[in-house]
Amino acid sequence: MSLSNAAVRDIETVIHPYTNLDTFRTSGPMIIERGEGIYVYDNGGNRYIEGLAGLWCTSLGYNEQELIDAATEQMKQIPFTHVFGGKSHERAAEAAERLKAIAPHAASKVLFCGSGSEANDQQVKLVWYYNNARGLTKKKKFISRQRGYHGVTVASASLTGLPGNHRDFDLPISGMLHTDCPHYYRYAEPGETEDEFTTRLAKNLEEMIIREDPETVAAFIAEPIMGAGGVVIPPAGYFEKIQAVLKKYDIYFIADEVICGFGRTGNMFGSETFGMKPDSISVAKALSSAYFPIAAVTVGEEMYQAMIDESKKLGMFGHGFTYTAHPVGAAVAAKTLEIYEKRNIVGHVRALAPRFEAHVQRLAEHPLVGHARAKGLIGAIELVADKKTKRSFDPASAIGAAVVAAAQRHGLIIRPLAGDIVAFCPPLIITLEQIEEMFAAVHKALDEVE
Ligand code: PLP
Repeated sequence: MSLSNAAVRDIETVIHPYTNLDTFRTSGPMIIERGEGIYVYDNGGNRYIEGLAGLWCTSLGYNEQELIDAATEQMKQIPFTHVFGGKSHERAAEAAERLKAIAPHAASKVLFCGSGSEANDQQVKLVWYYNNARGLTKKKKFISRQRGYHGVTVASASLTGLPGNHRDFDLPISGMLHTDCPHYYRYAEPGETEDEFTTRLAKNLEEMIIREDPETVAAFIAEPIMGAGGVVIPPAGYFEKIQAVLKKYDIYFIADEVICGFGRTGNMFGSETFGMKPDSISVAKALSSAYFPIAAVTVGEEMYQAMIDESKKLGMFGHGFTYTAHPVGAAVAAKTLEIYEKRNIVGHVRALAPRFEAHVQRLAEHPLVGHARAKGLIGAIELVADKKTKRSFDPASAIGAAVVAAAQRHGLIIRPLAGDIVAFCPPLIITLEQIEEMFAAVHKALDEVE
């Protein structure tokens, strides 16, 4: 296939994340030109369902006029003003008020930033700062989970539990520990019930904390559903057991809601879906439906008071980005949160979820699919060479990539994860008819690869 001029220029100039930079030199990128609803169009005029909402983020689709207007109006009014040292603008409080009002914990204040990675990086800094302020100067370690994904800055990539994000980057940094992934299908021992599995995981966590010395363990961070690690949906009761351990050792609990936040799992936050009672959340992506890069962490009153005490001592809170609470981002985020509320996006997801979940479950009947899982409007299939033994395909077969390429030929963009998992996460505005269209393409793709 000959490459378009745009693709050739791209190969010559752009470094692409999460890409085999060797094979990319000949395969080149797909150039996306425009979008409409849940569809995007490439530069050859081909239309695709964006079955992963971009990167789990374009919840309101690709031509939401209210968001375009909010950004345009803000750019005309004042495209940039910072929020350092006593300056601000009205959109910052508007976005913060809306986020606080729906947060799944008692949020006192909001600290904005630009991306999910920055949000989790801020979480690490805030916990360290808070514990220093409280005189708990040894309490600094973080526990996250194998296969968890929390971003790519030095701290958030260290929290991430995927070897591909660590290898040859000299990560993780010290004091970042990884406990078990709650993927029952893959990691349950023979004959182990879900209840026994989650009890074992909670016990392993407690043993890790004791081994490390509870006085040194500061925080635990978890996605409600692991996204990039393979759409891992925790078994019932998992978070209750984990949280009992965290409580026992006074460990701060952060919910990484970067994918699950804002309706994805059928509640406003994944924390509500899975009985999580976090002390703070990280949000990004659907906070602005990805129309502008903006992210945030929420802070409880106790932590905020400690930050005030630190300011008394040190003279200021010594952290912030040029683009913290960027006015255009804040305007878009405030409008996005308003739209979620006025259009009852959670109600829409709940109405569609049974059909979506049933479609994903039905894929388990396909000879290539070892496991199918879904919650709300997020799901995945795990491809296996042998259904009975759960034997994985040889990584060289690139089976996930083959299914994804076939789906693309049938007008659907989806994404392979961890080699042989294929994820589904369409824009939340998808309709029932479009769900049918999406899964018809998935069936065709699987049949073609089989
Ligand atoms: N946390 C989770 C759960 C994510 O899925 C991601 C990105 O996919 C991040 C954090 C990092 O966000 P970003 O890519 O905006 O830095």
